[in-house]
Amino acid sequence: MVLLSLLPGCSRAPVPLEGPPETVVLVVLDTVRADRTSLCGHDRPTTPVLAALAQDGVHACDTKAVGNWTQPTHATLFTGLEVPEHGAGAGGTLGPRREGLRPMVDGVPTLAEHFREQGFQTVLVSANGLLVPESGLTRGFDVAHVSELSDWRLERLDQEVRETLARLDPAKPLFLVVNVIDAHDPYPAVPASVGWVPRARRPWSPPWNDAGARKRDRLDSMVRKVHDRYDYAVFEADRNLGRVLATLDAGGWRQRPWRLVVTSDHGELLGEHGRFKHGGHDLHEPLLAVPTVYVDSVGGRPTLPDPLAQAAVHHLVRDGTAPVLPLRAARLSSPSVPPGDVCTHSTVATWEGSRKWICRAGRTVTVDLTDTETVPEPTPGSLMPFAAAVERVAVDDRGRGDDAVRDRLEALGYLSEPDTDD
Ligand SMILES: [Zn+2]
Repeated sequence: MVLLSLLPGCSRAPVPLEGPPETVVLVVLDTVRADRTSLCGHDRPTTPVLAALAQDGVHACDTKAVGNWTQPTHATLFTGLEVPEHGAGAGGTLGPRREGLRPMVDGVPTLAEHFREQGFQTVLVSANGLLVPESGLTRGFDVAHVSELSDWRLERLDQEVRETLARLDPAKPLFLVVNVIDAHDPYPAVPASVGWVPRARRPWSPPWNDAGARKRDRLDSMVRKVHDRYDYAVFEADRNLGRVLATLDAGGWRQRPWRLVVTSDHGELLGEHGRFKHGGHDLHEPLLAVPTVYVDSVGGRPTLPDPLAQAAVHHLVRDGTAPVLPLRAARLSSPSVPPGDVCTHSTVATWEGSRKWICRAGRTVTVDLTDTETVPEPTPGSLMPFAAAVERVAVDDRGRGDDAVRDRLEALGYLSEPDTDD
């Protein structure tokens, strides 16, 4: 038997572990945007584990997320479908300006179902409390171990992963999905010893927008603070990736053919467009460009399209290949969208070369991505064909408004989110 190094990121075993993977792992680093990872060029050492891991495989720094929050993006990772096809998003009014979860539609095949059919034990360990049966995202998992209130941060997540893996059959193939929540606000306290970012004694959530910081100097200082706190949060998420890898190795799960994909579900606004955090109707680039790393036990280096569609990450996990797929994102809004009026209620985006088309609040704009994405120009007339697909799905109210889901949305801060105009 070949023993792999216990340290994540160290070079692989001298003899490749040939054969179809018996351990397939997808790690989702929730809320990690690509440009704040050292893997993708950030000048702070935020993701040493991810960067080391990527040296043994391939990576993409421009994976285009299909949405700006957990529910639609995980559904795409799990199904390989676009938002209008899997239907997961917001919907179901809970009160003024409040929306519940719109679950993934029944019947669309998921990664977990696929691997279960192949004889795998299928396991989800999620620090993000939105990955619950009500969302449809646990479908196909034999074990779905999910944090009630998204509080499995720092070492706690590793403890949950370790205890979950210890209960499994070590002789059976494993499909494991782990959601790491540390980069999602509230950002963690910063110990004094870090060095590259100032100490901070308490976890902290930024405001949604700059309403309290209208004066330029106040906004600048808020942005600096958000950069520091978010960068350290990404560092903690990366540390948890390292813990997950070490736990997999300690349990022997990578002493047989394996495949590992690490990605993020969506990014984060750090003051761009006067906004912080993620959610609402924004489909700006900082929310949608996320990293992806692929590595396996035989040294496979599949070609990754650039940009990489998030739906293609699904195929990377399932088959180890990444097809070229359309780049599209959608933020479905409230149900009962009047026909022909989809952009008034939802936001949709597509990319073409260095341009992005965003349809929102009844108008379509083109954004030049070689610029800073700050001055979109109105595009008279045309509506993207994609918008028609969004329209088809947005008319059906499948939202759920029960208390448990509301508590989870509240824990992630979504219920206090204002409905904004940039
Ligand atoms: Zn998320």
